[in-house]
Amino acid sequence: TPAAPAAGDNRPPSHLFYQARLRRPLASRAEGIYIWDETGRRVIDGSSGAMVVNIGHGNPRVLEAMKRQMEAATFIYRLHFENEPAERLAAALADRCPAGLDRVFFVSGGSEAVESCLKLARQYAVATGQGSRFKVISRFPSYHGSTLGALSVTGHAAFSAPFAPMMHEMPKIPAPTAYLDRDGLDMAARGRRYADMLEDEIRRQGPETVLAFIMEPIGGASTGALVAPDTYYPRIREICDRYGVLLIHDEVMSGAGRTGRYLGGDHWGITPDLVALSKGLGAGYVPLGAMIASEKLVRPVLDAGGFQHGFTYAGNPLASAAGLAVLDEIDAHDLMGNAARMGALLKARLEALKPRFPFIGDVRGKGLLLAVEFVSDPETMATLPRELNAHARVVDLAFERGLIIYSRRTRGGIDGDHFLVCPPMIVTAGEIDEIMAILDDTLL
Ligand code: PMP
Repeated sequence: TPAAPAAGDNRPPSHLFYQARLRRPLASRAEGIYIWDETGRRVIDGSSGAMVVNIGHGNPRVLEAMKRQMEAATFIYRLHFENEPAERLAAALADRCPAGLDRVFFVSGGSEAVESCLKLARQYAVATGQGSRFKVISRFPSYHGSTLGALSVTGHAAFSAPFAPMMHEMPKIPAPTAYLDRDGLDMAARGRRYADMLEDEIRRQGPETVLAFIMEPIGGASTGALVAPDTYYPRIREICDRYGVLLIHDEVMSGAGRTGRYLGGDHWGITPDLVALSKGLGAGYVPLGAMIASEKLVRPVLDAGGFQHGFTYAGNPLASAAGLAVLDEIDAHDLMGNAARMGALLKARLEALKPRFPFIGDVRGKGLLLAVEFVSDPETMATLPRELNAHARVVDLAFERGLIIYSRRTRGGIDGDHFLVCPPMIVTAGEIDEIMAILDDTLL
């Protein structure tokens, strides 16, 4: 593999701006799990973009479906006509969701999906005479999006601080980082204890003011694929039911099949009141997201005059046709089964690194939503010094060696370094060997 070029050296100044200061190489082509840059260097897309490209790049079925739809009609506004791809995609999603979750509202991304859940929840409360309920409890750390509503429930000060005090600051409880606790309790007891923090918070706020609780069933980038003890999930559902609080699952990263089930919450058989989906739904082919709700929530809102919400591009036929083809591809090749099998293999291989690299404190996640956490001492799980900037360094070193991974420095109340390894659901055992060879070399 030729050495990485000094990115951006020979390019004119860019008019684009993002958060990142670094200039990266130009991408010229992508296929399967690989991306090629302008010099012909090949890099493994080991994080599927930002856990988006679930079925890999350049999928012929999706490209063909998009071409056919583009030739027929790309954009038809939903106030003027209904369109069949959107109808069919809504039905296909309802089929894949727990019984009762069968009303679909399309959007174009994850923040829009979360925003939609918050607004439908609020309108439902108003329409059913519960107008005093407006607080949405969430967890820290967490990430739910960058629009102002989604940001107000995001538990990550760096994202929200610049916008205070105009933000609605919503109450937050700790994410269930049971793996860090040194309290002698078993995992089942820890799971219940973290769930009970929700009940305490509802009581502290006054139940009549609490509208909803939002959480990622399997954490994404903010917590590094955090999975709670099994006892957490049913207890959270019970507490929400007891206090009339709506349960919102943000499945933007954990949904759409990556964990081996269509929704992360399916691993525990939980039916939330609202689901936010995006990322893997359009799988990188189109900007696409969805809110999925029950008729029980939707009906009162429609009867009271309609949902006061919507985005112009939502539910367009091109995005919907691509989304349908993505689902067909997942079914045709049993990619959820592959995600479960390859995820188990990759997780075992990551676990096997522990004895050689004592700074690996934890390996966690489900299916192909996996993370590795760095610590300075695996016994106490103390974090590495912040100045080491280990999470960013490992990303750069892996990139130089031809592998993209995704990292953050956040975990429970204190912060810590982790990176996510989340290749597309088409990944093979041979490709996992390639990923592991590069990771091994990176960690050395
Ligand atoms: N929720 C979660 C759990 C996410 O991971 C993200 C994106 N990282 C979002 C919401 C926001 O999605 P988007 O960037 O598509 O708006």
